[in-house]
Amino acid sequence: MRYPSHLIKLIQILKKLPGVGARSAERFAFHLIEWKAEDLAEMAKTFLEVPEKIQTCLACGCLKSESECTFCTDSRRLASQVLCIICSPRDVFAIEETKEYKGLYHVLGGLLSPLNGFGPERLSLEMLKKRIEAHSIQEVVIALDSTLEGDATALYLKRELSAYPLQISRLAFGLPVGSSLDYVDGGTLARAFSGRGSF
Ligand SMILES: [Zn+2]
Repeated sequence: MRYPSHLIKLIQILKKLPGVGARSAERFAFHLIEWKAEDLAEMAKTFLEVPEKIQTCLACGCLKSESECTFCTDSRRLASQVLCIICSPRDVFAIEETKEYKGLYHVLGGLLSPLNGFGPERLSLEMLKKRIEAHSIQEVVIALDSTLEGDATALYLKRELSAYPLQISRLAFGLPVGSSLDYVDGGTLARAFSGRGSF
């Protein structure tokens, strides 16, 4: 027997979520059938409100509520003259969690990947340059992935920003905290060597 058509639709929609395959989508759908109407309404309302209540700051690219961007309006960050370049708005939260950084952010919107057709024109470079000038930025911290794409993008940025009197740094990549040398892969160890600091 086939599922009722709306159940099929529900499964199809749930399958769009990352990491949710057909089996998981079915499980979630059958779970939702048991929810109370008011809980389903609350869920639907939360989804509907996403575009209105979670917005992207047009200056830095970070996520913000309906009100002002907390990063772009923080006087201490504005005075820091440091700008951290990240790939996606989600990266901000990981960096904020460390409580190590108190400067401005700039979301690049992706990493260069010629094979996937992601070229420099898709990076928010013009806005980046405008902000470097507007906020008299002295230091740029490149906080991109330690991957081929991350490396290529970091190099590209370094070249693009070479005309500015900036100190450009990139996050150090090294040994994971608590790790033993035996268990670290060669690439990580090589990175840790090249990025070694004085002690
Ligand atoms: Zn902002």
